[in-house]
Amino acid sequence: MSTESKILTFAITNQTKNSENNITPPVIKKIPKELRRKKFKADISLSWYKRFVDRLKNDSQFFRSSVQLAFVLLCLWIGIEFYLFMKWGMSEGTASYFERPPGVEGFLPISALMGLLHWIFSGTLNTIHPAATIILIAIIAVSIVMKKAFCSWMCPIGTLSESLWMLGQQLFKKNITVWKWLDYPLRSLKYLLLLFFTYSIAMMSVDDLNVFINSPYNKVADIKMYLFFAEISSFALWTIIILMLASVVIKNFWCRFLCPYGALLGLAGLVSPFRITRVIETCIDCELCTKVCPSNIKVHQIGQANSNNTIGHVWSDECTSCMRCVEECPVKETLVLRSRLNETVGQATKKSVSVSPFVFGSLIVGVFIAITGLGILTGHWHNSVSKDEYQFRFQQMDSPLYNHARGSVPQYGPND
Ligand code: SF4
Ligand code: SF4
Repeated sequence: MSTESKILTFAITNQTKNSENNITPPVIKKIPKELRRKKFKADISLSWYKRFVDRLKNDSQFFRSSVQLAFVLLCLWIGIEFYLFMKWGMSEGTASYFERPPGVEGFLPISALMGLLHWIFSGTLNTIHPAATIILIAIIAVSIVMKKAFCSWMCPIGTLSESLWMLGQQLFKKNITVWKWLDYPLRSLKYLLLLFFTYSIAMMSVDDLNVFINSPYNKVADIKMYLFFAEISSFALWTIIILMLASVVIKNFWCRFLCPYGALLGLAGLVSPFRITRVIETCIDCELCTKVCPSNIKVHQIGQANSNNTIGHVWSDECTSCMRCVEECPVKETLVLRSRLNETVGQATKKSVSVSPFVFGSLIVGVFIAITGLGILTGHWHNSVSKDEYQFRFQQMDSPLYNHARGSVPQYGPND
Protein backbone atom coordinates (compact mmCIF):
# COMPACT_ATOMS: atom_id res chain seq x y z
CA MET A 1 0.00 0.00 0.00
CA SER A 2 1.43 3.43 -0.89
CA THR A 3 1.95 6.02 1.84
CA GLU A 4 -0.83 8.21 0.44
CA SER A 5 -3.32 5.34 0.53
CA LYS A 6 -2.11 4.36 4.01
CA ILE A 7 -2.86 7.90 5.20
CA LEU A 8 -6.28 7.82 3.52
CA THR A 9 -7.22 4.42 4.97
CA PHE A 10 -6.01 5.45 8.40
CA ALA A 11 -7.88 8.75 8.20
CA ILE A 12 -11.15 7.07 7.16
CA THR A 13 -10.89 4.43 9.92
CA ASN A 14 -10.08 7.12 12.44
CA GLN A 15 -12.88 9.37 11.30
CA THR A 16 -15.38 6.49 11.52
CA LYS A 17 -14.14 5.61 15.01
CA ASN A 18 -14.22 9.25 16.08
CA SER A 19 -17.70 9.90 14.74
CA GLU A 20 -18.92 6.79 16.59
CA ASN A 21 -17.37 8.20 19.76
CA ASN A 22 -18.47 11.80 19.06
CA ILE A 23 -14.88 13.04 18.93
CA THR A 24 -13.87 15.77 16.51
CA PRO A 25 -11.83 13.97 13.85
CA PRO A 26 -8.25 15.21 13.27
CA VAL A 27 -7.84 17.36 10.20
CA ILE A 28 -5.21 15.84 7.96
CA LYS A 29 -3.49 18.48 5.90
CA LYS A 30 -2.42 17.86 2.32
CA ILE A 31 1.26 17.34 1.66
CA PRO A 32 2.65 19.96 -0.72
CA LYS A 33 4.23 18.19 -3.67
CA GLU A 34 7.75 19.43 -2.95
CA LEU A 35 7.52 18.10 0.62
CA ARG A 36 6.47 14.53 -0.26
CA ARG A 37 8.98 12.02 0.96
CA LYS A 38 9.61 9.17 -1.41
CA LYS A 39 9.84 5.67 0.02
CA PHE A 40 12.96 3.74 -0.83
CA LYS A 41 12.72 1.69 -4.02
CA ALA A 42 15.49 -0.69 -5.04
CA ASP A 43 17.21 0.13 -8.31
CA ILE A 44 17.15 -3.23 -10.12
CA SER A 45 19.78 -2.11 -12.61
CA LEU A 46 22.40 -2.26 -9.82
CA SER A 47 24.33 -5.39 -8.86
CA TRP A 48 23.00 -7.27 -5.77
CA TYR A 49 25.89 -5.92 -3.68
CA LYS A 50 25.29 -2.28 -4.65
CA ARG A 51 21.54 -2.76 -4.15
CA PHE A 52 22.23 -4.14 -0.65
CA VAL A 53 24.46 -1.18 0.28
CA ASP A 54 21.96 1.25 -1.26
CA ARG A 55 19.18 -0.25 0.84
CA LEU A 56 21.28 -0.16 4.01
CA LYS A 57 21.85 3.55 3.39
CA ASN A 58 18.29 4.50 2.53
CA ASP A 59 16.00 2.13 4.42
CA SER A 60 16.51 2.52 8.18
CA GLN A 61 14.38 -0.51 9.03
CA PHE A 62 16.35 -2.74 6.67
CA PHE A 63 19.58 -1.45 8.22
CA ARG A 64 18.24 -2.02 11.74
CA SER A 65 17.05 -5.56 10.91
CA SER A 66 20.48 -6.33 9.43
CA VAL A 67 22.22 -5.17 12.61
CA GLN A 68 19.74 -7.17 14.71
CA LEU A 69 20.38 -10.27 12.59
CA ALA A 70 24.15 -9.81 12.86
CA PHE A 71 23.90 -9.68 16.68
CA VAL A 72 21.61 -12.71 16.82
CA LEU A 73 24.13 -14.64 14.69
CA LEU A 74 26.97 -13.45 16.93
CA CYS A 75 25.07 -14.69 20.01
CA LEU A 76 24.38 -18.03 18.29
CA TRP A 77 28.08 -18.38 17.49
CA ILE A 78 28.98 -17.62 21.11
CA GLY A 79 26.27 -20.10 22.20
CA ILE A 80 27.73 -22.90 20.03
CA GLU A 81 31.26 -22.26 21.29
CA PHE A 82 30.06 -22.23 24.88
CA TYR A 83 28.09 -25.45 24.31
CA LEU A 84 31.29 -27.15 23.07
CA PHE A 85 33.19 -25.82 26.10
CA MET A 86 30.45 -27.19 28.38
CA LYS A 87 30.55 -30.54 26.58
CA TRP A 88 34.26 -30.75 27.33
CA GLY A 89 33.76 -29.75 30.98
CA MET A 90 30.88 -32.17 31.59
CA SER A 91 32.81 -35.04 29.98
CA GLU A 92 35.50 -34.80 32.68
CA GLY A 93 37.99 -33.88 30.02
CA THR A 94 37.38 -36.83 27.65
CA ALA A 95 35.73 -34.71 24.89
CA SER A 96 37.84 -32.32 22.79
CA TYR A 97 38.68 -29.04 24.49
CA PHE A 98 37.10 -25.82 23.24
CA GLU A 99 38.03 -22.51 24.79
CA ARG A 100 35.26 -20.66 26.62
CA PRO A 101 34.13 -17.63 24.52
CA PRO A 102 34.54 -14.46 26.65
CA GLY A 103 31.48 -12.94 24.89
CA VAL A 104 29.25 -15.23 26.98
CA GLU A 105 29.87 -12.82 29.85
CA GLY A 106 27.51 -10.40 28.10
CA PHE A 107 24.78 -12.52 29.71
CA LEU A 108 26.07 -11.93 33.26
CA PRO A 109 24.65 -8.47 34.09
CA ILE A 110 25.03 -8.77 37.88
CA SER A 111 28.66 -9.82 37.63
CA ALA A 112 29.19 -7.00 35.11
CA LEU A 113 27.70 -4.38 37.44
CA MET A 114 29.74 -5.64 40.40
CA GLY A 115 32.86 -5.59 38.23
CA LEU A 116 32.11 -2.02 37.14
CA LEU A 117 31.63 -0.74 40.70
CA HIS A 118 34.69 -2.65 41.85
CA TRP A 119 36.70 -1.07 39.02
CA ILE A 120 35.44 2.42 39.92
CA PHE A 121 36.22 2.04 43.64
CA SER A 122 39.45 0.01 43.45
CA GLY A 123 40.88 1.24 40.15
CA THR A 124 41.42 -2.34 38.93
CA LEU A 125 39.36 -4.33 36.47
CA ASN A 126 38.83 -7.86 37.79
CA THR A 127 40.24 -10.78 35.84
CA ILE A 128 37.35 -13.19 36.51
CA HIS A 129 34.75 -11.68 34.17
CA PRO A 130 36.46 -8.66 32.58
CA ALA A 131 34.50 -8.99 29.32
CA ALA A 132 31.20 -8.68 31.26
CA THR A 133 32.22 -5.22 32.52
CA ILE A 134 33.59 -4.10 29.14
CA ILE A 135 30.33 -5.15 27.41
CA LEU A 136 28.27 -3.35 30.08
CA ILE A 137 30.32 -0.17 29.58
CA ALA A 138 29.86 -0.45 25.79
CA ILE A 139 26.09 -0.82 26.18
CA ILE A 140 25.83 2.12 28.62
CA ALA A 141 27.99 4.26 26.32
CA VAL A 142 25.72 3.45 23.35
CA SER A 143 22.75 4.56 25.48
CA ILE A 144 24.38 7.76 26.72
CA VAL A 145 25.15 8.78 23.15
CA MET A 146 22.20 7.28 21.28
CA LYS A 147 19.43 6.77 23.82
CA LYS A 148 18.06 3.30 24.41
CA ALA A 149 19.13 2.24 20.91
CA PHE A 150 20.81 -0.94 22.18
CA CYS A 151 17.34 -2.39 22.91
CA SER A 152 15.99 -2.02 19.38
CA TRP A 153 19.21 -2.39 17.37
CA MET A 154 21.35 -5.01 19.12
CA CYS A 155 19.79 -6.79 22.08
CA PRO A 156 18.86 -10.39 21.12
CA ILE A 157 16.03 -10.38 23.69
CA GLY A 158 14.74 -7.12 22.15
CA THR A 159 14.85 -8.76 18.71
CA LEU A 160 12.96 -11.80 20.03
CA SER A 161 10.40 -9.48 21.68
CA GLU A 162 9.93 -7.57 18.44
CA SER A 163 9.49 -10.79 16.45
CA LEU A 164 6.89 -12.00 18.96
CA TRP A 165 4.69 -8.87 18.83
CA MET A 166 4.97 -8.84 15.04
CA LEU A 167 3.77 -12.45 15.08
CA GLY A 168 0.88 -11.33 17.31
CA GLN A 169 0.06 -8.58 14.82
CA GLN A 170 -0.01 -11.13 11.99
CA LEU A 171 -2.18 -13.56 13.97
CA PHE A 172 -4.65 -11.15 15.60
CA LYS A 173 -4.26 -8.11 13.28
CA LYS A 174 -3.25 -5.96 16.27
CA ASN A 175 -1.57 -5.95 19.66
CA ILE A 176 -3.19 -5.03 22.95
CA THR A 177 -2.33 -1.61 24.37
CA VAL A 178 -2.36 -1.67 28.15
CA TRP A 179 -4.62 0.99 29.74
CA LYS A 180 -2.71 4.10 30.78
CA TRP A 181 -3.66 3.75 34.46
CA LEU A 182 -2.12 0.26 34.48
CA ASP A 183 0.74 1.02 32.09
CA TYR A 184 2.51 3.49 34.41
CA PRO A 185 2.67 1.20 37.49
CA LEU A 186 3.68 -1.76 35.31
CA ARG A 187 6.45 0.27 33.65
CA SER A 188 7.79 1.25 37.05
CA LEU A 189 8.35 -2.44 37.92
CA LYS A 190 11.57 -2.53 35.90
CA TYR A 191 12.85 0.54 37.77
CA LEU A 192 12.05 -1.14 41.10
CA LEU A 193 14.01 -4.22 39.98
CA LEU A 194 16.90 -1.98 38.91
CA LEU A 195 16.75 -0.16 42.25
CA PHE A 196 16.80 -3.46 44.11
CA PHE A 197 19.87 -4.75 42.24
CA THR A 198 21.83 -1.49 42.28
CA TYR A 199 21.01 -0.83 45.95
CA SER A 200 22.11 -4.36 46.96
CA ILE A 201 25.37 -3.98 45.01
CA ALA A 202 26.01 -0.36 45.98
CA MET A 203 25.73 -1.33 49.67
CA MET A 204 28.70 -3.70 49.27
CA SER A 205 32.14 -2.47 50.28
CA VAL A 206 35.13 -2.93 47.93
CA ASP A 207 36.18 -5.90 50.10
CA ASP A 208 32.71 -7.47 49.80
CA LEU A 209 32.82 -6.97 46.03
CA ASN A 210 36.28 -8.50 45.93
CA VAL A 211 35.12 -11.53 47.91
CA PHE A 212 32.14 -12.06 45.60
CA ILE A 213 34.06 -11.52 42.36
CA ASN A 214 36.80 -14.01 43.29
CA SER A 215 34.43 -16.56 44.80
CA PRO A 216 34.11 -20.09 43.35
CA TYR A 217 30.45 -19.25 42.58
CA ASN A 218 31.28 -16.19 40.47
CA LYS A 219 34.06 -18.01 38.66
CA VAL A 220 31.49 -20.44 37.28
CA ALA A 221 28.52 -18.03 37.05
CA ASP A 222 28.35 -18.54 33.25
CA ILE A 223 28.44 -22.34 33.66
CA LYS A 224 25.68 -22.09 36.28
CA MET A 225 23.63 -19.98 33.87
CA TYR A 226 24.05 -22.64 31.16
CA LEU A 227 22.98 -25.41 33.57
CA PHE A 228 19.98 -23.33 34.66
CA PHE A 229 18.64 -23.41 31.09
CA ALA A 230 19.90 -26.92 30.20
CA GLU A 231 18.25 -28.42 33.30
CA ILE A 232 15.42 -25.93 33.48
CA SER A 233 12.79 -26.44 36.21
CA SER A 234 9.16 -26.61 35.16
CA PHE A 235 8.49 -23.36 37.11
CA ALA A 236 11.20 -21.46 35.20
CA LEU A 237 10.07 -22.95 31.89
CA TRP A 238 6.44 -21.94 32.47
CA THR A 239 7.54 -18.46 33.49
CA ILE A 240 9.43 -18.08 30.19
CA ILE A 241 6.49 -19.47 28.18
CA ILE A 242 4.06 -17.05 29.89
CA LEU A 243 6.41 -14.10 29.25
CA MET A 244 6.69 -15.09 25.60
CA LEU A 245 2.92 -15.48 25.20
CA ALA A 246 2.41 -12.09 26.85
CA SER A 247 4.93 -10.63 24.37
CA VAL A 248 2.85 -11.94 21.46
CA VAL A 249 -0.20 -9.95 22.52
CA ILE A 250 1.45 -6.93 24.21
CA LYS A 251 4.31 -5.18 22.41
CA ASN A 252 7.66 -5.72 24.15
CA PHE A 253 6.02 -7.04 27.35
CA TRP A 254 9.33 -8.05 28.99
CA CYS A 255 11.29 -5.00 27.82
CA ARG A 256 8.58 -2.46 28.68
CA PHE A 257 7.60 -3.74 32.10
CA LEU A 258 10.26 -5.99 33.58
CA CYS A 259 13.77 -5.64 32.11
CA PRO A 260 16.05 -3.87 34.66
CA TYR A 261 18.74 -3.57 31.98
CA GLY A 262 16.27 -1.61 29.82
CA ALA A 263 15.48 0.60 32.84
CA LEU A 264 19.18 1.40 33.28
CA LEU A 265 19.59 2.20 29.58
CA GLY A 266 16.44 4.34 29.60
CA LEU A 267 17.94 6.45 32.40
CA ALA A 268 21.34 6.65 30.67
CA GLY A 269 19.59 7.71 27.46
CA LEU A 270 18.05 10.77 29.14
CA VAL A 271 21.38 12.58 28.71
CA SER A 272 21.73 11.66 25.03
CA PRO A 273 22.05 14.68 22.71
CA PHE A 274 19.78 12.98 20.15
CA ARG A 275 16.01 13.29 20.07
CA ILE A 276 13.27 12.35 17.63
CA THR A 277 12.05 15.80 16.61
CA ARG A 278 8.76 16.80 14.98
CA VAL A 279 8.44 20.01 12.99
CA ILE A 280 4.94 21.14 13.87
CA GLU A 281 4.48 23.48 10.90
CA THR A 282 4.98 20.85 8.21
CA CYS A 283 3.36 17.95 10.09
CA ILE A 284 0.09 16.97 8.42
CA ASP A 285 -1.28 15.19 11.55
CA CYS A 286 -1.66 11.87 9.76
CA GLU A 287 -0.67 9.97 12.95
CA LEU A 288 1.26 7.31 11.03
CA CYS A 289 4.24 7.85 13.35
CA THR A 290 2.15 7.13 16.44
CA LYS A 291 0.59 4.11 14.78
CA VAL A 292 3.95 2.43 14.13
CA CYS A 293 5.66 3.35 17.41
CA PRO A 294 6.26 0.11 19.36
CA SER A 295 6.63 2.11 22.58
CA ASN A 296 3.12 3.60 22.30
CA ILE A 297 4.46 7.16 22.25
CA LYS A 298 2.05 9.74 20.83
CA VAL A 299 4.66 11.02 18.40
CA HIS A 300 2.17 13.09 16.38
CA GLN A 301 1.37 15.15 19.47
CA ILE A 302 4.86 15.99 20.68
CA GLY A 303 5.43 19.67 21.14
CA GLN A 304 1.83 20.71 20.68
CA ALA A 305 1.12 21.26 24.40
CA ASN A 306 2.59 24.74 24.01
CA SER A 307 1.16 26.73 21.08
CA ASN A 308 4.43 28.74 20.80
CA ASN A 309 6.43 25.64 19.95
CA THR A 310 7.68 25.19 16.40
CA ILE A 311 9.15 21.79 17.13
CA GLY A 312 8.63 19.00 19.63
CA HIS A 313 11.07 16.41 21.00
CA VAL A 314 10.40 12.85 22.14
CA TRP A 315 11.65 12.83 25.74
CA SER A 316 10.20 9.48 26.76
CA ASP A 317 12.53 7.00 28.44
CA GLU A 318 10.67 4.34 26.45
CA CYS A 319 11.89 5.61 23.06
CA THR A 320 14.38 3.05 21.74
CA SER A 321 15.47 5.11 18.71
CA CYS A 322 14.13 2.39 16.44
CA MET A 323 13.43 5.01 13.71
CA ARG A 324 10.16 3.39 12.71
CA CYS A 325 8.33 6.70 13.08
CA VAL A 326 10.95 8.57 11.03
CA GLU A 327 10.78 5.95 8.28
CA GLU A 328 6.99 6.12 8.17
CA CYS A 329 6.54 9.91 8.09
CA PRO A 330 5.40 10.90 4.59
CA VAL A 331 6.61 14.52 4.81
CA LYS A 332 10.21 15.51 4.12
CA GLU A 333 12.24 16.83 7.08
CA THR A 334 9.23 16.70 9.40
CA LEU A 335 10.09 13.83 11.68
CA VAL A 336 13.84 13.56 12.05
CA LEU A 337 16.48 12.57 14.49
CA ARG A 338 18.21 15.72 15.64
CA SER A 339 21.05 16.42 17.95
CA ARG A 340 20.29 19.11 20.47
CA LEU A 341 23.84 20.41 20.18
CA ASN A 342 23.97 24.18 19.56
CA GLU A 343 20.20 24.34 19.80
CA THR A 344 18.77 27.76 20.57
CA VAL A 345 15.20 28.11 21.73
CA GLY A 346 13.14 29.72 19.00
CA GLN A 347 15.54 28.81 16.21
CA ALA A 348 16.10 25.23 17.16
CA THR A 349 15.24 23.72 13.79
CA LYS A 350 17.95 25.81 12.15
CA LYS A 351 20.71 25.37 14.66
CA SER A 352 20.52 21.70 15.68
CA VAL A 353 21.90 19.00 13.41
CA SER A 354 19.72 16.45 11.66
CA VAL A 355 21.27 12.97 11.66
CA SER A 356 20.43 10.43 8.97
CA PRO A 357 19.30 6.98 10.17
CA PHE A 358 22.31 5.46 8.37
CA VAL A 359 24.79 7.65 10.25
CA PHE A 360 22.93 7.04 13.49
CA GLY A 361 22.89 3.24 13.02
CA SER A 362 26.59 3.26 12.08
CA LEU A 363 27.33 5.26 15.25
CA ILE A 364 25.47 2.71 17.40
CA VAL A 365 27.44 -0.21 15.98
CA GLY A 366 30.67 1.84 15.88
CA VAL A 367 30.57 2.87 19.56
CA PHE A 368 29.85 -0.72 20.63
CA ILE A 369 32.62 -2.21 18.49
CA ALA A 370 35.11 0.54 19.46
CA ILE A 371 34.69 -0.08 23.20
CA THR A 372 34.66 -3.88 23.08
CA GLY A 373 37.55 -3.75 20.56
CA LEU A 374 39.53 -1.55 22.94
CA GLY A 375 38.88 -4.08 25.72
CA ILE A 376 40.19 -6.89 23.50
CA LEU A 377 43.25 -4.95 22.31
CA THR A 378 44.25 -3.85 25.81
CA GLY A 379 44.02 -7.39 27.21
CA HIS A 380 40.82 -6.82 29.24
CA TRP A 381 38.80 -9.57 27.64
CA HIS A 382 39.97 -13.13 28.39
CA ASN A 383 39.69 -14.17 32.02
CA SER A 384 42.40 -15.63 34.22
CA VAL A 385 40.70 -18.99 34.94
CA SER A 386 42.90 -21.66 33.37
CA LYS A 387 41.80 -24.86 31.62
CA ASP A 388 43.01 -26.95 34.61
CA GLU A 389 41.09 -24.78 37.06
CA TYR A 390 37.91 -25.14 35.00
CA GLN A 391 38.38 -28.91 34.92
CA PHE A 392 38.74 -28.93 38.72
CA ARG A 393 35.66 -26.76 39.18
CA PHE A 394 33.49 -28.84 36.84
CA GLN A 395 34.19 -31.80 39.12
CA GLN A 396 33.24 -29.78 42.23
CA MET A 397 30.08 -28.22 40.80
CA ASP A 398 27.72 -29.95 43.30
CA SER A 399 29.62 -28.57 46.29
CA PRO A 400 27.75 -25.93 48.41
CA LEU A 401 30.64 -23.57 47.56
CA TYR A 402 29.03 -23.01 44.17
CA ASN A 403 25.83 -21.52 45.52
CA HIS A 404 24.94 -18.02 46.56
CA ALA A 405 22.12 -16.28 48.39
CA ARG A 406 21.13 -12.68 47.53
CA GLY A 407 24.64 -11.59 46.59
CA SER A 408 26.46 -13.31 49.45
CA VAL A 409 28.58 -16.37 48.80
CA PRO A 410 29.70 -19.14 51.19
CA GLN A 411 33.01 -18.57 52.91
CA TYR A 412 35.90 -19.95 50.92
CA GLY A 413 39.60 -20.42 51.45
CA PRO A 414 42.63 -19.75 49.22
CA ASN A 415 42.55 -23.33 47.91
CA ASP A 416 38.80 -23.36 47.07
S1 SF4 B 1 9.28 7.45 19.07
FE1 SF4 B 1 9.99 6.69 17.08
S2 SF4 B 1 12.11 6.06 17.48
FE2 SF4 B 1 11.12 6.25 19.48
S3 SF4 B 1 10.35 4.19 19.94
FE3 SF4 B 1 8.67 5.31 18.92
S4 SF4 B 1 8.88 4.77 16.75
FE4 SF4 B 1 10.82 4.24 17.73
S1 SF4 C 1 5.13 13.68 12.18
FE1 SF4 C 1 3.70 11.97 12.33
S2 SF4 C 1 1.69 12.92 12.17
FE2 SF4 C 1 3.19 14.41 11.40
S3 SF4 C 1 3.31 14.02 9.20
FE3 SF4 C 1 4.92 12.81 10.13
S4 SF4 C 1 3.96 10.80 10.44
FE4 SF4 C 1 2.28 12.24 10.08
